[in-house]
Amino acid sequence: MTVPVHSKLPDVGTTIFTVMSKMAQDHGAINLSQGFPDFEPDQRLLDRVIHHLAHGKNQYPPMTGVPELRQAIAGKFRLEGGLEVDPESEITITSGATEALLCAIHAVVRPGDEVIVFDPAYDSYEPAVTLSGGRTIHVPLALPDYRIDWDALAGVLNDRTRLVIINSPHNPTATTLASGDLDRLAEQIRPFDCRVLSDEVYEHIVFDGGRHHSVVDNPELRERSFAVFSFGKTYHATGWKIGYCVAPADLTVEFRKVHQYNVFTTVTPMQWALADFVREAPENYRELSAFYQVKRDYFRERMEPSRFSFLPSAGTYFQLADYSAISDLPDMEFAEWITQEKGVAVIPLSPFYRDPPDTRIIRFCFAKQDETLARAAEILCAL
Ligand code: PMP
Ligand code: GLN
Repeated sequence: MTVPVHSKLPDVGTTIFTVMSKMAQDHGAINLSQGFPDFEPDQRLLDRVIHHLAHGKNQYPPMTGVPELRQAIAGKFRLEGGLEVDPESEITITSGATEALLCAIHAVVRPGDEVIVFDPAYDSYEPAVTLSGGRTIHVPLALPDYRIDWDALAGVLNDRTRLVIINSPHNPTATTLASGDLDRLAEQIRPFDCRVLSDEVYEHIVFDGGRHHSVVDNPELRERSFAVFSFGKTYHATGWKIGYCVAPADLTVEFRKVHQYNVFTTVTPMQWALADFVREAPENYRELSAFYQVKRDYFRERMEPSRFSFLPSAGTYFQLADYSAISDLPDMEFAEWITQEKGVAVIPLSPFYRDPPDTRIIRFCFAKQDETLARAAEILCAL
């Protein structure tokens, strides 16, 4: 007799990033879908990894992460924003931002609790909420510019709301939150026993002179928030899967209870290398916005003659484009067609929604060498 599997995540399939990257590979397409650079991290950072591999940094680090790395992160907060963050009680190193998101959700969400996400929402949030027994409440970002609809938020906040998840700079829409947005959020959740989970993995990729606004900078939100960061985005090393969570001491205690029985800790030599690099090369993350702005502008310029219509990209390494002048296909079918028939892989937006709107918009990743972007643009301009 076969024993049936009672799925805890019956609606979950394989992530759209894996689906599209595999399709790109199977069809030899240029991959502008899954978000990762097609160039290498800084050689000095790689040299630090090699150094620590060869010098005994190969056993378990502390559960909370290598102290030198936590201190380097605290030093960065002090240097960049004059903020005091305690490396002992407020910073935990994780296996990527993904693990930090999961730990934060499990730390505070109980069965029956409600968690608010703004659609389109990064795809790992909802499964983590479901596994913790919570219910995800989807609030659509207002079209056409993907702003938070504060009235809609007010309409869903209630005594069961345990967490609001925000993400700025935002994947997939490439929008950013202003400091006024954080003030507004703080004000609206004030009456509730509700926390904020702030996904800030693209903190160092903000364009056109804008600056990143973190919940850590907002005194009221800081008291109730988990802020999640990723070294993968900042140092062109998405495969290292190292991130961190900043949260007040009481929340960090609960966060670490999940983290220690999830992965316990994360890879040692990379943590040491990152500790060196964060301290020794601040220009590296300070120059990241300018680096990606040049790429964004290069891609947009090359795409000028195309029939795609580009939406603003204020941050992240993503660019949304409306393809309605080219095709009437729904976005998933369009993404399949353009990957399989034309040789450029992209990401459709509908997988990021509970109720996808009737739009014809796809996401390009421009974290690529100029040559890759130029080849892709040549194909896309012929559509
Ligand atoms: N949040 C967002 C918005 C992301 O785009 C990503 C990654 N691509 C993550 C979290 C996960 O980051 P990591 O790879 O460090 O787990
Ligand atoms: N965050 C990356 C993106 O948006 C993908 C991460 C993943 O593949 N899980 O493309």
